[in-house]
Amino acid sequence: MVDYRKMWQDLNMDIEAHDQLCKVLPQAFGDVYLSQKNQPEGMAYYTTAVLNIHGIRPAELVEAQKSGTKIFGTFCVYVPDEIIFAAGGIATGLCGGSQFWVSSGEKVLPTNTCSLIKASIGARLDRTCPFFSIADIFVGETTCDGKKKAWEILNKYTPVYVMNLPQQKRAKDVANWAQEIREFLAKAEEVTGNKVTTESLNRAIKLVNDKRRALQRLYSFRKLSNPPISGKDCLLISQIAFYDDPARFTEMTNKLCDELDQRVQNGVGVYAPNAKRILFTGTPMAIPNWKLHHIVESESVAVVGEETCTGIRYFDNLVDENQTTLEGMINALAERYMKINCACFTPNSARIEDIKRYVREYGADGVIDANLKFCTLYDIEGYTVERALKEAGVAVLGLETDYSDGDFAQLRTRVEAFLEILNV
Ligand code: SF4
Ligand code: SF4
Repeated sequence: MVDYRKMWQDLNMDIEAHDQLCKVLPQAFGDVYLSQKNQPEGMAYYTTAVLNIHGIRPAELVEAQKSGTKIFGTFCVYVPDEIIFAAGGIATGLCGGSQFWVSSGEKVLPTNTCSLIKASIGARLDRTCPFFSIADIFVGETTCDGKKKAWEILNKYTPVYVMNLPQQKRAKDVANWAQEIREFLAKAEEVTGNKVTTESLNRAIKLVNDKRRALQRLYSFRKLSNPPISGKDCLLISQIAFYDDPARFTEMTNKLCDELDQRVQNGVGVYAPNAKRILFTGTPMAIPNWKLHHIVESESVAVVGEETCTGIRYFDNLVDENQTTLEGMINALAERYMKINCACFTPNSARIEDIKRYVREYGADGVIDANLKFCTLYDIEGYTVERALKEAGVAVLGLETDYSDGDFAQLRTRVEAFLEILNV
């Protein structure tokens, strides 16, 4: 077992507090994941990746930094990783999903801020997350008000570059986003000292598209009547996609999919025959937030998909790979990223259409609209989501939660009551 303490010390992390955090994860992971029966063998890679989350990948990032590579920490699926990789940098997702960091975040943020923002700020303030300590620069965006203001606080610790995301999807908004990407490209060149070329951007587009293709392939198994992999496992894989080396992640995910192909041929599934099927929609579930999947799948019900940023929104739609000029590639990036349907857009009717389409494609019996407490955007949009689903004859349950375990029993009761409805 490699000892990463020296690396954490060198990163000026709070070792004592970090020890406390490290004690929590294996227990939580064991309860949620290792209790599963009939896991595909290929899940061993992701288990190792998550149990060593503060070791393996951070050590690779530190090594890369020693040879001059710059690390960009990102918080949102609108930030085009392709630009970072094309400039010779490394992109790594930073969204905090642990209750452990929430109280630190609350020292500088109002309590009525969503857990994701509080945990993300808390992770930096606490000095207990190596990814936050390693990053040379953070890349924020103007999605919700909470994040916009949080960047100003975070900027006191590490420079934050903010991309101005339009909040409508007219042609001029897509053009504005292309301009933001152009300016971000110049920033990435300045930070890394490397020039982005048509070749390097083309390679990066292919690199990130390959990751999306692997995730699309993985999720296609969830559409089957007898899924060979659990929803919990797929959520974990999606979460790891944000920080793992993209080429290795793609290779390992395709390898897992080969095993899943074999399972399908052999008729191996992980759920009981005729298990009810749930689609999640709502706010992202950052690692290690597995609470709702755990509650639902503990009821012998299949979670077959997530219309979230830690699910389908992350990998749906590819960037056009046929562009030959830098300008063409930037426009292709703008078009692909503006197809993501975050609740920060108005109107956001394409998200409603997506959810209804996924209900059909993934064969969902019901939808759980799960939002983080104090996320005004998704909370308000929940009204439209739930009304549209009811009109389409789809059973829907709206839930609000945070990262704490305090509402676990209450959530389970509500989920059980919802499942009763699906069973009649
Ligand atoms: S929910 Fe919106 S703000 Fe949050 S990661 Fe997704 S796109 Fe970004
Ligand atoms: S969950 Fe909502 S409030 Fe929290 S960061 Fe995402 S969009 Fe903002």
